Formats: sequence, structure tokens, C-alpha cells
Amino acid sequence: MRDFGLNSSAVATTLIASLPVVSPNVMFRLITDFDGPIADVSVRYYTVYHRCLDQVVRPGQFLQRLSYDEFWACKRARVPEWQIGMKTGLDEPQARAFAKMRGMTVHAQPFLHHDQTIPGAIEALERVRDAGFDLVVMTMRRTRELNEALDRCDLGHFFAADRRYCLSNDHVKIGDTKDKPILMQRALQELPPAEKTWMVGDTEADIIAAQTGQIPSIGVLSGIRDRQQLQKYKPDLILNNLSEAVDFVLESVGCSQLRAVS
Ligand SMILES: [Mg+2]
Repeated sequence: MRDFGLNSSAVATTLIASLPVVSPNVMFRLITDFDGPIADVSVRYYTVYHRCLDQVVRPGQFLQRLSYDEFWACKRARVPEWQIGMKTGLDEPQARAFAKMRGMTVHAQPFLHHDQTIPGAIEALERVRDAGFDLVVMTMRRTRELNEALDRCDLGHFFAADRRYCLSNDHVKIGDTKDKPILMQRALQELPPAEKTWMVGDTEADIIAAQTGQIPSIGVLSGIRDRQQLQKYKPDLILNNLSEAVDFVLESVGCSQLRAVS
């Protein structure tokens, strides 16, 4: 596990020094997950939590609803949905029904508008694009869910049509840690070769996908997993957010040289 944290500049400098010298003809690529590095889904998830509780609570039943911070801390610690229901005061059959309903609701179109871009994410995308990087988005969103967010948040210009890896609208999900490595393999087969590629993501699915593709992974803490959860999967680096990840990769390839030739 190489968890360099945020203040391990000496280790990071060692990594940087080991990377190839930039030349005008090389292409660097950043593959980024969408939810977590770019989009904050926490308000949507919390809204759906309440909506599903409203559906399963019995008249007169007392519930101790979690605060936003309590709820999101549970999600980041991977507390199962039915356990979140139990913590709130549901009995087990209710909690199971709550979890099932939540799974069917949380990605529904009426709730997507709750998502917001994470502070600094757009500027980070601008920095890495302006440095000449090939930008790819890789997400477990379905095509319609990704397009909704790219259009609503005016992010589409960062990702060309052939740089958007997501699930088709009719895809039958196996599970993120299975589906995402498949998406990664497809991307690495289809995309032109790059001198160096990084993957940025906020979950174990991103790290596993990167490891499957044998590319370095940067886990970010701005999403739905806490540091403890990310560390279990041994990303190459854990940073706070996409902005820090972009700063790291730009520095590691000699950002000023890239800008000079772009
Ligand atoms: Mg994510």
C-alpha cells in the first residue's frame, strides 16, 4: 500500500523523478470517474433516504432519522443500506424493503438534479485539458444519467463522445467492481496508446479497474468512501479531491514543459 497522504512530498517527489521526460510527441491521459471526483451525489442520496423512509414507515412509528453528516458517514464507511434503515429505527423487514426501494430509486431521473459539481473540479478539468492531456470519463452511470449531468452542469466539452465510458441504458449490472474493470479493458483496447495513464476515482471499483488495466490509481476522498475503505484496495495514492490529483499528475510530467509545447 502506497498511501502517501497529503504531506508526503518526499515520496511523491521520488515518484515524479522516476517518470519519463516530457517530449512534444507524447500523450498523457487522465481517466476520471464522474461521481466522487466531479459530482457530489450526497444530497441526492440523502434525499432518497428520506423518500424511501416515508414509504415504509408505519403510521405513528417513531424514527430517529440520521442527520446528513451521520448518513453520509455511513455511506462512506460502506454501512449496508438495510443497516442504515435499522439505525433509523426500522424493523428488519422494513429495513429490507427500504434497502430494495432505495436501490430502485436512487438513480432515477427525478432525483439526478440534486447532484452538484464538487468545488474545484471544473477548474481541475480545465488545468489538465489545457496541459494537453487526453481526458476520459469512466463511470457506472448509464448513458442517459451521464448525459443529464454533463448537459446540466455544462461539462460535456471536457469529454469527446469517444472519451465517455459508461453503461448503456439497457445494461444489466453485475456490480461496480465487476462492471468497471470490463469498461476499463474496453477503453484500453479502443483508445490510442498513451505514454502514461492515470485513473482517478472515489471507490474500490475505480481502484480495481485501474489495477486490472495496470495503470496507477489515485483514490480521492471527495466521494462515497472514506480513507479507511480506500486503503483496503491499495490505490497508488490517496488525495483529497480531483484538484489535488490533477496537480499531482501535472507536476509528475512537468506541467510547464507540456504547456510550452501545447
Ligand atoms: Mg464514483
